Amino acid sequence: TEEMLLQSEKLSIAGQLAAGVAHEIRNPLTALKGFLQLMQADGHSKADYLKVMLSELNRIELIVSELLVLAKPQMTRFKPTDVRTVLQEVLTLLDTQAILNNIQIHILTDGQDPWIECDQNQMKQVFINFLKNAIEAMPRGGEIRIEVSCPASGDVQLRFLDEGCGISKERIAKIGEPFYTTKDKGTGLGLMVSFKIIQQHGGSVQIESEQDVGTMITLTLPRLAVMERARA
Ligand code: ADP
Ligand code: MG
Repeated sequence: TEEMLLQSEKLSIAGQLAAGVAHEIRNPLTALKGFLQLMQADGHSKADYLKVMLSELNRIELIVSELLVLAKPQMTRFKPTDVRTVLQEVLTLLDTQAILNNIQIHILTDGQDPWIECDQNQMKQVFINFLKNAIEAMPRGGEIRIEVSCPASGDVQLRFLDEGCGISKERIAKIGEPFYTTKDKGTGLGLMVSFKIIQQHGGSVQIESEQDVGTMITLTLPRLAVMERARA
């Protein structure tokens, strides 16, 4: 039956993910073990080993922390939220990183109240992932625009536009697959986790991109009616 199919599909996704995590974490663990063995064996300066060990530990920490967002669905707490509040918090968090990269982030709103029902921490994570990718795509700086609107469809729409390297046609299909990354220090988990969160919020995402021009991510979420906002 359909239910059973869904169940086995879930299991196979979980299996794929587990295999991916095991693989991704085994490499840094092997490196850490190797350097510990070297440190034990010889009397050389340990500074170089320590540097690699710390960076591999950071990698494990990053992978585990990105996956933890998915691993705790029971802690999800949905609340009526003005999406602009979450955006502002995220911009404060990313302020230093933006300045260091010579990037300006602008929010444009259409004057309506973009209320949604969401787990604020998870939605924050989604915005952080989108904006970090945009920043990382613009090594020479530039502008990121976030357009917030409430179209007649009864949704809240958020558009993230950057002037970065863009994504080629061949690559765009791979986006969001676990561990798919084009970055040296990337985990390839940010978008997978974000898509999962958006799905849990009844939303959808669309990515349009042109290489060397930029990327536009359109996020659509169900808008909360005025009556339902009182519980905020
Ligand atoms: P990571 O950032 O760790 O690589 P993500 O899941 O966040 O993992 O992104 C996967 C890949 O999608 C990135 O490596 C990059 O190639 C591409 N990508 C995502 N967002 C953008 C963007 N705004 N501009 C260009 N490429 C992007
Ligand atoms: Mg990312």
